[in-house]
Amino acid sequence: MDWGILQGQDAAVESLRRDISSGRVGGAYIFFGPEGVGKATAAGLFARALECEGEAPPCGACPACEKVGRGVHPDVITVRPEKDKSTGQDRKTIGVGPIREQVLQRAHQRPQEGRRLVFIVDNAHTVTLPAFNSLLKTLEEPSPDTVLIIVTPNLHALPPTVVSRCRRLRFRSLNRAEQREILSAVLGEGEADMDRLISLSLGRLGQAFDADSRALAEQRESALEFLEGVSEPPGKADEAALLTMAAAVAGRGGSARRDVLGFLEMILGLLRDILALEVAPDVLEPWNADVDKALRAIGSRWGVSGLIQALDRVRFAARDVGEINTNPSLTLESLVISLRGTVGAGG
Ligand SMILES: [Zn+2]
Repeated sequence: MDWGILQGQDAAVESLRRDISSGRVGGAYIFFGPEGVGKATAAGLFARALECEGEAPPCGACPACEKVGRGVHPDVITVRPEKDKSTGQDRKTIGVGPIREQVLQRAHQRPQEGRRLVFIVDNAHTVTLPAFNSLLKTLEEPSPDTVLIIVTPNLHALPPTVVSRCRRLRFRSLNRAEQREILSAVLGEGEADMDRLISLSLGRLGQAFDADSRALAEQRESALEFLEGVSEPPGKADEAALLTMAAAVAGRGGSARRDVLGFLEMILGLLRDILALEVAPDVLEPWNADVDKALRAIGSRWGVSGLIQALDRVRFAARDVGEINTNPSLTLESLVISLRGTVGAGG
């Protein structure tokens, strides 16, 4: 894998290559831009290039490139959240503990075997403010061998004190043709499969790469069914069936919260498509173009202002489940009721 995989990100790639070839590598970088457009891939490639012992870094063939690629290079550290002691799962935020243990305690040491010490903080919008503050000193007095790469979809979620101390690289959103090209280069699949994968992952390539496309297809199917049910006109909707469906989503397996979040994200993506088809069908291409008939039918029953309200309600529900830890099945149940109130809502 080399820089060529980052199609459509020429500006960012050019800037990184220039830093490497001129030897003027910064102490800290922020890669920001929409989800799934190559930021994490770029961080991995940059780390490889920083450690590479070959002639055209990242050469992809030297032992250093190989180790970074397998995630076993001792001087390339991807900061991980702590495990929650009660559930054994990763915490949703990265606090002071992991930053102290994984970054600060090592940041002033020499690299063990590589040329530099590279720290990658992915999903940096989940790093807590105190944890960022603890990083500040390192950012102010970087040791010459240390490179910190902060990856985030949302630059504004980071403290300005951190942002101002880093080189910032913007990754732009990719159009469908670019996404298709990248996917087929990596996966080598047929055109029809590509479009389907892009749709199912709502355009976030990162997800498309490791998508279990059958599971995603099933999830979309139930999300679509859910929206069809919710958008039935008053008197025709089978609310009991909708509540049963909501309960089924929430009750699936042992990972209810993650399932419900995935389901809500899928609903958000479909609603966005429905709204796009209602507002500007000739301009905006829906991600889920293969089911556009069904989406149009839902949109015509819902109406534009109702759809906008509905998007907000679903976004709030996703936030409740993801960040405030409300009970997933109760949240879904009340979402059914509140969405019903937005169907055909005027004004
Ligand atoms: Zn190499």
